Amino acid sequence: MSVTGGHVAVFAFPFGTHAAPLLTLVQRLAAAAPNLRFSFFCSTQSNQKAFSRVKHEGFDNIKPYNVADGVPEGHVFSGHPLEAMEFFLNAMPKNFKSRLEDVVEETGLKVSCLLTDAFLWFSGDMAEEMGVPWVAFWTAGPCSISIHIYTDVIRNTIQSTAGKAENADQTLNFLPGMAPIHVNDLPEGVLYGNLDSPFSRMLHNMGLTVEQATTVEEIDPVITDDLKSKMKKVLNHHHPSYSDENGCISWLDKCETASVAYLSFGTILTPPPPELLSLAEALEEKGVPFIWSFRDNSKQHVLEGFLERTRNLGKVVPWAPQLQVLQHPSVGVFITHCGWNSVWESIAGGVPMICRPFFGDQKLNRRMVEDVWKIGVGVEGGIFTKCGTVTALDLVLLNEKGKKMRENTGGIKANAVKAVGTNGSSTENFETLLEVVTTSKKT
Ligand code: UDP
Repeated sequence: MSVTGGHVAVFAFPFGTHAAPLLTLVQRLAAAAPNLRFSFFCSTQSNQKAFSRVKHEGFDNIKPYNVADGVPEGHVFSGHPLEAMEFFLNAMPKNFKSRLEDVVEETGLKVSCLLTDAFLWFSGDMAEEMGVPWVAFWTAGPCSISIHIYTDVIRNTIQSTAGKAENADQTLNFLPGMAPIHVNDLPEGVLYGNLDSPFSRMLHNMGLTVEQATTVEEIDPVITDDLKSKMKKVLNHHHPSYSDENGCISWLDKCETASVAYLSFGTILTPPPPELLSLAEALEEKGVPFIWSFRDNSKQHVLEGFLERTRNLGKVVPWAPQLQVLQHPSVGVFITHCGWNSVWESIAGGVPMICRPFFGDQKLNRRMVEDVWKIGVGVEGGIFTKCGTVTALDLVLLNEKGKKMRENTGGIKANAVKAVGTNGSSTENFETLLEVVTTSKKT
């Protein structure tokens, strides 16, 4: 391979759905600029996952490199979902920095641009030291990046760190262009929770540094205008597509229009067993056909009886081609944790949502879905109960309100589709990004 167009070092965040969308963006760039070399740095595990799930043949100018995950040798994990992340955060930025130095030495290719997950806030300093541009990639919604940029303002305005209890329903109406987000929708570590954990500190630092450059979605134009005024580049991103090894699409082909519930809680979460049971009981009672993306083997036993009884009603799979599933006309509702990618894919498919957010930006997204965009409903009391889930299924699948929600997705989707059209903002943004990464060649 001859590479003459520069060397883009890509730093991915190896948890949640961060690395795969960044890899998809890198593939688009790599296809548009075959003379550029892209070095993709992430943990071993996350690289394996991202490169196996996204079709990767023909991208000779993208090379994965594994960085140290910081886990001490022989460590036995307790099962806490954030444990591995804390080790990784403590190993940063040294792990990225030293691996990058090795790669530059091995290949003899100086870095011409740093393209990184926005979480990796130290990349701004590294890029400055190297005298190259930094493009930060934001994998969630504009509302949540705004929250991180304005964290100090929020902390100074809503004085109490016990804010959750005292000011739970106060809206953040003092932030420019902010939707009617309530204090208790905020991610932990912004105003309450442990403000000093490695994760909270990373997000705070990101909010302080990300103004140099970023990539965001443009579903909410008001917020994005404010972000545009604060940052050098505001860009959109695209989403990956996966193969259908579990036959979801052919199964959906046999179902009636808008009749099926699709259930997924993203790549990290499984609801606690009592909620899984309530959810299963509600589906069974209503006789709603379903596809359930369920990977947590340690909790599979909770659903044993249900799975046997509902063999003809639904399908439980370890992985579904979600983007395509949500595009299928048979899907009538998405039961989701409100991860940003899931929300966006549901809008793209025109599918209303039943929301059960857990942490991070998921509560913000639920607020947007239910109260701002009116394209879904939160479960009563915030957790799955049989009765609350039955009510939500009735509302979305059978009630006029559900139809209206489906219609409402159309308006949001239309804006997004316009953005990716020939003269749309997303297309222009991609051209801008391409220009940044191709013209930054270091000589
Ligand atoms: N996903 C998928 N199939 C599954 C489960 C998840 O394709 O069976 C994809 C989904 O399309 C989305 C991502 O995984 O792009 C989940 O991202 P999200 O931001 O919703 O949640 P996270 O994994 O970050 O919690």
